[in-house]
Amino acid sequence: MASELEPEVPAIDQSLLECSAEETAGKWLQSTDLTREVYQHLAHYVPKIYCRGPNPFPQREDMLAQLVLLGPMEWYICGEDPAFGFPKLEQANKPSHLCGRVFKVGEPTYSCRDCAVDPTCVLCMECFLGSIHRDHRYRMTTSGGGGFCDCGDTEAWKEGPYCEKHKLNTSEIEEEEDPLIHLPEDVITRTYNIFAIMFHYAVEILTWEKESELPADLEMVEKTDTYYCMLFNDEVHTYEQVIYTLQKAVNCTQKEAIGFATTVDRDGRRSVRYGDFPYCEQAKSVIVRNTSRQTKPLKVQVMHSSIVAHQNFGLKLLSWLGSIIGYSDGLRRILCQVGLQEGPDGENSSLVDRLMLNDSKLWKGARSVYHQLFMSSLLMDLKYKKLFAVRFAKNYQQLQRDFMEDDHERAVSVTALSVQFFTAPTLARMLITEENLLTIIIKTFMDHLRHRDAQGRFQFERYTALQAFKFRRVQSLILDLKYVLISKPTEWSDDLRQKFLEGFDAFLELLKCMQGMDPVTRQVGQHIEMEPEWEAAFTLQMKLTHVISMMQDWCALDEKVLIEAYKKCLAVLMHCHGGFTDGEQPVTLSICGHSVETIRYCVSQEKVSIHLPVSRLLAGLHVLLSKSEVAYKFPELLPLSELSPPMLIEHPLRCLVLCAQVHAGMWRRNGFSLVNQIYYYHNVKCRREMFDKDIIMLQTGVSMMDPNHFLMIMLSRFELYQIFSTPDYGKRLSSEITHKDVVQQNNTLIEEMLYLIIMLVGERFSPGVGQVNATDEIKREIIHQLSIKPMAHSELIKSLPEDENKETGMESVIEAVAHFKKPGLTGRGMYELKPECAKEFNLYFYHFSRAEQSKAEEAQRKLKRQNREDTALPPPILPPFCPLFASLVNILQSDVMLYIIRTILHWAVEHNGYAWSESMLQRVLHLIGMALQEEKQHLENVMEEHVVTFTFAQKISKPGEAPNNSPSILAMLETLQNAPYLEVHKDMIRWILKTFNAIKKMRESSSASSVAETEGTITEESSRDKDKAERKRKAEIARLRREKVMAQMSEMQRNFIDENKDLFQQTVAEEASNSAVLDNSPMVSDTTLTALGPAQTQVPKQRQFVTCILCQEEQEVKVESKAMVLAAFVQRSTVLSKNRNKVIQDPEKYDPLFMHPDLSCGTHTGSCGHVMHAHCWQRYFDSVQAKEQRRQQRLRLHTSYDVENGEFLCPLCECLSNTVIPLLLPPRNIFNKLNFSDQPNLTQWIRTISQQTKALQILRKEESIPNIASSKNSENMDELQLPEGFRPDFHPKNPYSDSIKEMLTTFGTATYKVGLKVHPNEEDPRVPIMCWGSCAYTIQSIERILSDEDKPLFGPLPCRLDDCLRSLTRFAAAHWTVALLSVVQGHFCKLFALLVPNDNYGDLPCILDIDMFHLLVGLVLAFPALQCQDFSGISLGTGDLHIFHLVTMAHIIQILLTSCTEENEMDQETPAGEEELAVLALYKTLRQYTGSALKEIPSGWHLWRSVRAGIMPFLKCSALFFHYLNGVPSPPEIQVSGTSHFEHLCNYLSLPNNLICLFQENSEITKLLIESWCQHIEVKRYLEGERDAISYPRESNKLIDLPEDYSSLINQASNFSCPKSGGDKSRTPTLCLVCGTLLCSQSYCCQTELEGEDVGACTAHTYSCGSGVGIFLRVRECQVLFLAGKTKGCFYSPPYLDDYGETDQGLRRGNPLHLCKERFKKIQKLWHQHSITEEIGHAQEANQTLVGIDWQHL
Ligand SMILES: [Zn+2]
Ligand SMILES: [Zn+2]
Ligand SMILES: [Zn+2]
Ligand SMILES: [Zn+2]
Ligand SMILES: [Zn+2]
Ligand SMILES: [Zn+2]
Ligand SMILES: [Zn+2]
Repeated sequence: MASELEPEVPAIDQSLLECSAEETAGKWLQSTDLTREVYQHLAHYVPKIYCRGPNPFPQREDMLAQLVLLGPMEWYICGEDPAFGFPKLEQANKPSHLCGRVFKVGEPTYSCRDCAVDPTCVLCMECFLGSIHRDHRYRMTTSGGGGFCDCGDTEAWKEGPYCEKHKLNTSEIEEEEDPLIHLPEDVITRTYNIFAIMFHYAVEILTWEKESELPADLEMVEKTDTYYCMLFNDEVHTYEQVIYTLQKAVNCTQKEAIGFATTVDRDGRRSVRYGDFPYCEQAKSVIVRNTSRQTKPLKVQVMHSSIVAHQNFGLKLLSWLGSIIGYSDGLRRILCQVGLQEGPDGENSSLVDRLMLNDSKLWKGARSVYHQLFMSSLLMDLKYKKLFAVRFAKNYQQLQRDFMEDDHERAVSVTALSVQFFTAPTLARMLITEENLLTIIIKTFMDHLRHRDAQGRFQFERYTALQAFKFRRVQSLILDLKYVLISKPTEWSDDLRQKFLEGFDAFLELLKCMQGMDPVTRQVGQHIEMEPEWEAAFTLQMKLTHVISMMQDWCALDEKVLIEAYKKCLAVLMHCHGGFTDGEQPVTLSICGHSVETIRYCVSQEKVSIHLPVSRLLAGLHVLLSKSEVAYKFPELLPLSELSPPMLIEHPLRCLVLCAQVHAGMWRRNGFSLVNQIYYYHNVKCRREMFDKDIIMLQTGVSMMDPNHFLMIMLSRFELYQIFSTPDYGKRLSSEITHKDVVQQNNTLIEEMLYLIIMLVGERFSPGVGQVNATDEIKREIIHQLSIKPMAHSELIKSLPEDENKETGMESVIEAVAHFKKPGLTGRGMYELKPECAKEFNLYFYHFSRAEQSKAEEAQRKLKRQNREDTALPPPILPPFCPLFASLVNILQSDVMLYIIRTILHWAVEHNGYAWSESMLQRVLHLIGMALQEEKQHLENVMEEHVVTFTFAQKISKPGEAPNNSPSILAMLETLQNAPYLEVHKDMIRWILKTFNAIKKMRESSSASSVAETEGTITEESSRDKDKAERKRKAEIARLRREKVMAQMSEMQRNFIDENKDLFQQTVAEEASNSAVLDNSPMVSDTTLTALGPAQTQVPKQRQFVTCILCQEEQEVKVESKAMVLAAFVQRSTVLSKNRNKVIQDPEKYDPLFMHPDLSCGTHTGSCGHVMHAHCWQRYFDSVQAKEQRRQQRLRLHTSYDVENGEFLCPLCECLSNTVIPLLLPPRNIFNKLNFSDQPNLTQWIRTISQQTKALQILRKEESIPNIASSKNSENMDELQLPEGFRPDFHPKNPYSDSIKEMLTTFGTATYKVGLKVHPNEEDPRVPIMCWGSCAYTIQSIERILSDEDKPLFGPLPCRLDDCLRSLTRFAAAHWTVALLSVVQGHFCKLFALLVPNDNYGDLPCILDIDMFHLLVGLVLAFPALQCQDFSGISLGTGDLHIFHLVTMAHIIQILLTSCTEENEMDQETPAGEEELAVLALYKTLRQYTGSALKEIPSGWHLWRSVRAGIMPFLKCSALFFHYLNGVPSPPEIQVSGTSHFEHLCNYLSLPNNLICLFQENSEITKLLIESWCQHIEVKRYLEGERDAISYPRESNKLIDLPEDYSSLINQASNFSCPKSGGDKSRTPTLCLVCGTLLCSQSYCCQTELEGEDVGACTAHTYSCGSGVGIFLRVRECQVLFLAGKTKGCFYSPPYLDDYGETDQGLRRGNPLHLCKERFKKIQKLWHQHSITEEIGHAQEANQTLVGIDWQHL
């Protein structure tokens, strides 16, 4: 048996390597039967190269294939070494002016909104940047792969079809030049030969279906017995299912299974087992068995290895062909010829046909290879593109049928190529006329929707899952239809007319199947049991919307076509309505002496459908007749006499009545499906071809019939005829209170009916209906949207209908109607309506939803009140109707209308009852207003000698007719004007009366035929009185309003204080505590303030009172009282890191005592500044913990904080916290023993401290070895001369209360735990170090923020920062009291030894590798542990000062050693000063000690400058540190920003202004020290250039530089491939904004293990780059991602905005995006402030769904 371990790589057959391409080619050239020769060659070699084992070795296979198989072909084609032959061909080639670059997945593509013929025309980035379109309005998207650059295609662009690069090639193109003339004759023949053989071979083998037998001419003599078990891709099974099954079936690891699954998904197939037949067959059966339970099984085949080998080579061959034709357009032409040449079997037998027709049988990888070849060959050759298009059209039905059966996405189907032909205008036209493409597509579509009801309409009701799946696929046909129609013909031939109308016929057939589909019947009594299916029908309607519009656009272009189409459409509609008047006897309706016959029909009782596409298409065509004036030019050609207006209006009216009844609540029992349908009927996506057209159809109807008849039919359909034909109906109902529901219903119906009349008269903004153009229409839409509220660009776009090019036309008019307001740091740019446009506002605008209408009404009235105008919202002045619709206005003055108006006004006058509503009245008033406006317009535009027949004003002044004898409408209005219950409508009534008078005047002055004097005229007198009263009333209202506003304001203020309690509390507390300081400041102000040392400014003790946010009790902060704490958040940080590659490998062994100056990992402490009692906090935290445990047991819910890790939210501000800091008084004061005796100078002090540390070391050593004889001990003690006054056995008493001590330990332990990522251990000697470190690091990070923002060091810090730093510093200073004295002393000794050499410590780091500020903080804060045992009289202050001076000196040396000494002589202007000379002297000393390894520098000026600059951050940090430590107020000079405060800082820090004096004053000891520092081996290595060192000042870290234009990022990301799966494009390329690394996020391939868990690339990266915190940009989504730890994350708005001030998360809109520097700075600031985690916390609290996301997998 063969061993289980297969050899890694089988050995290469030596004979292969000896193959000579030249020789083989030579043999072929001699051959008489080339085909046989080549096939034999392939039969022999292909199986020797490919498929030699279980796994492919692509590199080796490629290498051998090139050598043995492809090489000879290249030789053969060229007739010489291809290395020379191909370049020759390339040179002779006249390159194409087409770009044709095929897009990779994720590559950016650009389309020009101004010049692209349709949105499918795109450019690659390179072409775009070199084109004129970069300055146009363009759109940017990322390609889904496939498709290519249209640069150079003159049909694709209205302007600028070439980029600069491709323009070069156009100068010399002669159209239709045969590219073959550039090729030598013999090359043509040979190429033809070899292409024909090879292309044929590839097609044959790829479409080969037998599993173990090869084509006869490829069979081998010795056949091996090896098979593959080949697994194919499908779209049914998930990744997880496949992985699981494979592990079972072929016994592989999960990792291998993931590998298989990934390849199957990408390439479409992958062998999962290799071996003999039964072995493979067994795996196959397991897979099939395992995956066949619910669905059809995964496709698996056992294939002979030689077949797989040939297929693999076949693919290689196709790519090879693709690359060979790149050398010359002539070669490409030959390949096209070969491909399209008809084969021996006649029709459909060309190679191209064979591939297409086998498309659905091929696996994904094979398809994409040959599609790409087609794109680079057939589609790039204009002549053959045409021929190919014809083949495609001829096969269209079959291809679509295959696609329906296939389960792959459309993107990998050959049918997706349709976009390449159908959108090319001439090709599309040719296909329509020659191949009848329109009809074919529509018929194919109909073929796939077979399910019909009894009337032949589509039936989606009982769709099975499979049918639904097919229905989804079949929709792609609509897309094809859209492509064909997208470019409209400029010229019509008779052929085109005929074929288009044929297509139009087919289209009408399609619409006929939709007319009346999904009918509904009102459900009474019981609620429907099951929601009926409605979505499919609406999907169809929605997808067809653009096609319907485009069909009309085409008709509009040619009068003959329009007339024919109109006739056809009318015929179909009549056919649909055949039998419309059948059945029952008609009923007769009569009102006001008019009567009409109509059918009996009740919407509420019979079937009604929302789908009426045929009626609506006719309405659209009718408008076109008017718009194009065909109706007036050729009336005799039109079947206008056949039109029956009642029939035209019937169905649209039913549909509108249905909406009204649904609104009136009559269809409640029909469930949500109906509500949804009505919603979509009005929705912006559908309304253009649904609701809008129904209104037009009614307008058409009214304009052709007696308006009185129309109104009666309408009353009848609204089921209101009874109400209006019965006198006193309203009165009667008011007494029957039991029918409240019915009354309510009828009221709503009346309102709806009035609304409909308003719309019929008022909606004249469709070109053709009214005398307007498209711009007017869009302007009006925008005005009404902005009347609701100011809107962002994207919001506005969404509310407007898009045309087939996804354009709304908004940009062209927006400037005219709106102002743009730019966005701030957050939010979006907004458009605001220009005030002058408000007069065009129509309250009853037909596209308003109810909610929008009431919002708009409120907004507009408010605006009017603000402008101190009356609040009437009268109807706007409207444009005139087109002649075809002109008679429509008469509906307003028709008898029935006046009767309706009078009736409703009458009800309102007799207002006691339920029979009327205010909105009813409001609508009636609006209608009256419209009529008056209309009359006024007529009068103003009247021509001489014409009589205005519109006499509404006259009619309303007449009293009602008998028998009622009611008063005139005008009289009733006057009555209502004074009705107290109609306050809101008074302004409107007043406006009506005013307009009425104006009209009366116009009539009187213009003509003799004056309006009859009526009884109801208003006298000017009374109206003037009224005006006066009115003004008074208004003044009163204004006063009341003002008072109300004032009250609101103060309320708001109170709320504000409540909401920002913390802020106010802090300010108050702060004022209190600061006032103490400030009060004292006059006392100290005349002397300079000194922060440390014996000369420290003495600050009187301040008492500090704080209030607990939990129990609200106030308490004084005292040493002995209960602890008060601040909520705090400790985190690791790399924000200041200068070395992101450094990670703490083993935290348990890591020694943090010396911080490296690269600050690679620090511990940051932040706080929201909220104060609590320690015990209150503990109780709070316990309850949070308990609650969380209960919750976790119940449901596995996550929270935004991790309780198990000690996290909680601040009870007041919900800020994420993980520990608390105790509040303390300045701790130094407690230990500072005042001593006025002489204090030692630096030299003496160093000596004393050295002695003390040495003594301690000896003591410790002895303690650690207790079993050694005590004699020796005493001996040592003798030897050890304890320095005078030093009492190492003394242990000071801890002054703090137990509660404070406990909190000191709590915070210390938390810092240790988080900072080192270890388990808490309060006794670990590293605890105090971590506390000091966190204090130092936090101060450093704040100093950086202040410097970067050019803020003064002691300017007004935010309270929370101030509180945090104060508490943190004092805490760190007090922490030693809870640590072991010996431990702290030990740390001090070691830190001290770094500066003052001590034999007891070997290998300490050299001074180049120390962060001096960390060292300073450590030394100063550890010093009390030593000093407390010293009774010789050295004060703490003296120690501080000497430590500070010592560290400062070390820092100066550090700076001098590392300063970049670039000489710049010309800088030196002034003669050398004192400092310069001193520093030069020091530098010389330094050179002396370093053996002159330092460069010689003659100028002290430069040195001094680097010292000053280098030391500034250190001085600033030190000033902050000592300020918070000792509580000395800062000098006022440093509180304001300004130039360097060097001198002030020096004074405050007790330093000489000439820092070098420090060295001079103590020259004796300093020389020794410098010498010892320079002796360190590392310093020597550095000076010899063997290593690097950090130089000063350290620059602040910044987030990476982002490009201004977002597309360059997309481009960068599209070139990025996953680092783990060889060359694959990453699906979610994600950019780390901290270090600029691109990652392959959210994907199996790049998951790694981190602390035992699988995490995605981003999470893994945060651990090395940001110690757990990460800031990323997801490039494809244009989304910022914040991550913290494994469980926390959120998305954040990206720093890229479009021209409208909006972000585009998800890149859906595709507007060009540009970097917004301010927003990017804001992100950077969050990072610098260590607020990323906090930001995530807030985001997660605000949006709980964020908590559920598996952030660790990103
Ligand atoms: Zn291009
Ligand atoms: Zn180009
Ligand atoms: Zn353009
Ligand atoms: Zn409390
Ligand atoms: Zn808080
Ligand atoms: Zn990074
Ligand atoms: Zn990857």
